Amino acid sequence: MTGTTQDDYTDRYARRVRGMTTSEIRALFSVASRPEVVSLAGGSPYIAALPLDAVGEMLNRLAVDHGTTSLQYGIGQGTVELRERICEVMALSGITNASPDDVVVTVGGQQALDLLARLFLDPGDVVLAEGPTYVGALGVFQAAQAQVRHVAMDDEGLIPEALEEAIAASPRAKFLYTIPTFQNPAGVTLSEERRERVLDICERAGLLVVEDDPYGMLSFEGDAPLPLRARRRDGVFYCSTFSKTFAPGLRVGWILAPHAVREKLVLASEANILCPSAFAQGAVTQYLTTMPWREQIKVYREIYRERRDALLSALTDLMPAGTTWTRPTGGLFVWATLPEGLDSKAMMPRAVAARVAYVPGTGFYADGTGRSNMRLNFSFATPERLREGVRRLSGVMEQDLAM
Ligand code: PMP
Repeated sequence: MTGTTQDDYTDRYARRVRGMTTSEIRALFSVASRPEVVSLAGGSPYIAALPLDAVGEMLNRLAVDHGTTSLQYGIGQGTVELRERICEVMALSGITNASPDDVVVTVGGQQALDLLARLFLDPGDVVLAEGPTYVGALGVFQAAQAQVRHVAMDDEGLIPEALEEAIAASPRAKFLYTIPTFQNPAGVTLSEERRERVLDICERAGLLVVEDDPYGMLSFEGDAPLPLRARRRDGVFYCSTFSKTFAPGLRVGWILAPHAVREKLVLASEANILCPSAFAQGAVTQYLTTMPWREQIKVYREIYRERRDALLSALTDLMPAGTTWTRPTGGLFVWATLPEGLDSKAMMPRAVAARVAYVPGTGFYADGTGRSNMRLNFSFATPERLREGVRRLSGVMEQDLAM
């Protein structure tokens, strides 16, 4: 062989790699991060709100005073100190019966999803998921060569009747993947009443539930409803992360698994990464032990609530007639539905030219639908920038409508 062209590699890829494509969000990041662009894309927390000096001192002590453990290998399941702290964090959300022994520390919430896919999905298996759903979960399920069947939502989250129909159509589905609280991307929350119904339906059908809950603590109006895992212990895998309540740069998340499954999860994680970063785990443990982390969550909540309000009033004031959107009571995202005839994907280059970015709805469906939707993030831009972004966006929409 004299040289290897791109085509030679294409022929060699494993089957599971062939369907992999760049996520629209990733592709947008380089454009959206240019300073002149108002980015309503992405999902970055407002890290500038952290007390960075104090975090820096904490990290310094972690290296200097505890370096022989924090810079060493650790165990696959994650440190017991952190798993104990994670149980305290979950207790705040209402999960009061978790044992540190059933917690597996992961590299962000993303690895939690990947581990569950490794454990349960064979090629061709069906996963049920809200439509729209988290783009990173779609990537994981696609890499596992699974098929995603979407279940419709409304303003109260997943529609129980639609779930029943989806189960009837795919009786061998492996699990329901759901983000019941402050959903990404739709910004809606599964109501109290529906939580019980969804759990009953899954229990009756013998369907496992993967509950993804990165946003539950970022509530703007009182406490969020109790997580599904607080209501049922069996058959529910609870995944969360410190990415939105502390810092995504540390890449620390976790799974709370039914006891019987925990060992297989650890084995799958060891095969994948050996062990989560001891330094990152030490940082989160120190943060939760020595710093006012509950206060910090309140700070994030306040900032995001103000920004949500700014985004919603800008949408009310500036969007063309016929546009609708969700009104999230927590989290980071608003989901907008465009007037008849507009195509969020086709409009994107014109939006970027007008210096505003969003994520077209198509990224959040496995089946290519979502052209009349877009996800708008409100955690990163200031209220003034959010309004300016909506002004630019509505200008592009008006132009497209006039075409
Ligand atoms: N699940 C959902 C629903 C998310 O929105 C995200 C992050 N955007 C993740 C999982 C992944 O979290 P992490 O950044 O901790 O990997």
